[in-house]
Amino acid sequence: MKLPGEVRRYCKFCKEHTLQKVVQVKGGHRGVLTAGSRRKLYNIEHGYGSTPYPMFEHAKRMGVKQTKRYDIRYKCTKCGKMTTQRRGKRAKKLEIK
Ligand SMILES: [Zn+2]
Repeated sequence: MKLPGEVRRYCKFCKEHTLQKVVQVKGGHRGVLTAGSRRKLYNIEHGYGSTPYPMFEHAKRMGVKQTKRYDIRYKCTKCGKMTTQRRGKRAKKLEIK
């Protein structure tokens, strides 16, 4: 999937249409985790029990989930604020020009 590098869209902070940069956000803030959620994250990344491969890899082998959800956000060039993501975009591969 190819996305343009810049889009003119509504900025809720400026309350008008402005030129906004398309940004792909990678990773995220995990913060302080409990032992249970650390174990869950480990299992998602490494696989465990009935899912011996990492989650995405496992889904690929089982023939489901051919695409990933990418975190796409828009950064306003006027006020510098970024939009929050709602659901992201599903795509096999993402390219931002
Ligand atoms: Zn703005």
